[in-house]
Amino acid sequence: MEKKQFQAESKRLLEMMINSIYTQKEIFLRELISNASDAIDKIYYKALSDDSLVFDKDRYYIKVIPDKANRTLTILDTGIGMTREELESLLGVIAKSGSLAFKQENEAKDGHNIIGQFGVGFYSAFMVADVVTVISKALHGDGAYKWESSGADGYTIEAAKRDSVGTTITLKIKENSEEENYDEFLDEYRLRAIIKKYSDFIRYPIKMDVTKSRLKEGSDSEYEQYQEEQIINSMVPIWRKNKSELTDEDYENFYREKHYGFDKPLKSIHISADGAVVYQAVLFIPENIPFDYYTKEYEKGLELYANGVLIMNKCGDLLPDHFSFVKGMVDSESLSLNISREMLQHDRQLKLIAKNIASKIKSQLQTMLKNERDKYEQFFNAFGRQLKFGVYNDFGSHKDVLQDLLLFYSSREKKLVTLDEYVSRMPEEQKYIYYATGASIERIEKLPQTEAVAEKGYEILYLTEDIDEFAIKMMRTYKDKEFHSVSSGDLGLESEEEKKDTEAQNNENKELFDYMHSLLEGKVTKVQASKRLRSHPVCLSTEGEVTIEMEKVLNALPTNQNVKANKVLEINLQHKVFQSLKDAFEHDKAKLKLYTALLYNQALLIEGLPVEDPVQFTNDICEIMV
Ligand code: ADP
Ligand code: MG
Repeated sequence: MEKKQFQAESKRLLEMMINSIYTQKEIFLRELISNASDAIDKIYYKALSDDSLVFDKDRYYIKVIPDKANRTLTILDTGIGMTREELESLLGVIAKSGSLAFKQENEAKDGHNIIGQFGVGFYSAFMVADVVTVISKALHGDGAYKWESSGADGYTIEAAKRDSVGTTITLKIKENSEEENYDEFLDEYRLRAIIKKYSDFIRYPIKMDVTKSRLKEGSDSEYEQYQEEQIINSMVPIWRKNKSELTDEDYENFYREKHYGFDKPLKSIHISADGAVVYQAVLFIPENIPFDYYTKEYEKGLELYANGVLIMNKCGDLLPDHFSFVKGMVDSESLSLNISREMLQHDRQLKLIAKNIASKIKSQLQTMLKNERDKYEQFFNAFGRQLKFGVYNDFGSHKDVLQDLLLFYSSREKKLVTLDEYVSRMPEEQKYIYYATGASIERIEKLPQTEAVAEKGYEILYLTEDIDEFAIKMMRTYKDKEFHSVSSGDLGLESEEEKKDTEAQNNENKELFDYMHSLLEGKVTKVQASKRLRSHPVCLSTEGEVTIEMEKVLNALPTNQNVKANKVLEINLQHKVFQSLKDAFEHDKAKLKLYTALLYNQALLIEGLPVEDPVQFTNDICEIMV
């Protein structure tokens, strides 16, 4: 028997390839099973045009046989087989793909289920095997042949025996080394897991003898083990099935089988796209927040399949950050893969798919918001924060996509409302969308700054999360209505006349306010008459972009920038305390100093800001008590 050399380039290529293009050894099984599936597909396609051939589905399968004692793993198929010439030309020449040629020849017959195209997958067997033996009998061929190789030094071909058409590939699994454990590729459970992971949706049965145990005959306590042939793969993937055939339970089972989460899906989204890019997807919105969701460790992404074969566990490019909570998978025929089938060569199709998916997710969320409000609120309580981050991130470029998915608590409705709902009930004369910020709804409810707006009967959105105001500031407007904090600037509630009045009051009390301002030098930028207070004596408001809530958030960040809001101390001239201030200003400057300090500290407390000198503050209180 003559030993043939691989062609020179092939030899180098083989050395390079083994252990280098694939990041995980276990994928050899994916490659060999894909080849077996292709081989069966080829008979199927041939039968479509050849009347002498009948494709009886039940006769076609793939079988995986581990043999620990002999350290071999066999993968056999009942596919089209290879002739002697094919064994030589296909397995002897690396990067030669019979499957690609088949697809090209049979284009008219729609050979798109065939997986192979690069002509290298087969050699991945050498990552785990010292010797690879292929015995094959081709359909319409002249008997069986055996191809054998132990890697880079070439291969042999000789006549062999195989009764039926098909191919048997036997791997002599490598001995364990210090770094590598190869035993796992002989282990029944491990093999099952690998098959499930990569080849679950191969359309032909992948069989394996699995060990089971049963009560020994005649005994009621003694067990015995026995072997039973089982089909390991699920074959028809849920995403290729018709939506109308599937129940909620089917989706739930899939969610659980795939370990997308320990919870149940709140919503499943099944997409079958036939447009510019063809793909199927089954996506889920989880019911609960994954424990690591709002941490750096959380990795977004969808499983990516090419033609039913798993390519990537987590393809992050398929999901925008604002929908990073979505779990699920995408299968496409139109992806161009690179040689290891791990990464994608061109991401044009991927980008198209990602864009399409993002708009589907959005419209599903909108539908849920419209028709299943309770469910949507449940979703929003879990992942709304992420949507708000989405509005803020990338300089607000996603706000148009996301703004109608946001909910905020309404002072009037006492529940979460959309911006559209808010705007649609705004009275004609109302200028702004008002909001108030604070640690909780209860705290905001008591904020003195809300008094004037509330008195007008205007609705106020309560913002309780740190990201809220940043998102709102990024949006600036919604349907041409500007957002306005109840705690900053001019609330737009006064008529021209009332404005003049306020100005007059401020002028009238200019000396008092200037004096108080000098006592609070560096703490506030101004002291003035308030237009937002009704029953409370005092509050803080802000001028400019940075509000008190933003100051708090920014200064709590590790990159503390020591950002300061321009604070204004506002005094309610209608309140009795104002008279005391005026009296003190005229007769007792020491008292005015005490009152000013007390009022300022009260205003800080109302805002949830720390009092700068608590000891002094309590001393001040004691002083007015004695
Ligand atoms: P690819 O699958 O990308 O074409 P492979 O290196 O995996 O490349 O396989 C090379 C070729 O060998 C295949 O295209 C196919 O023609 C042939 N082949 C491999 N395995 C089998 C098999 N089990 N049955 C029939 N032909 C096979
Ligand atoms: Mg292949």
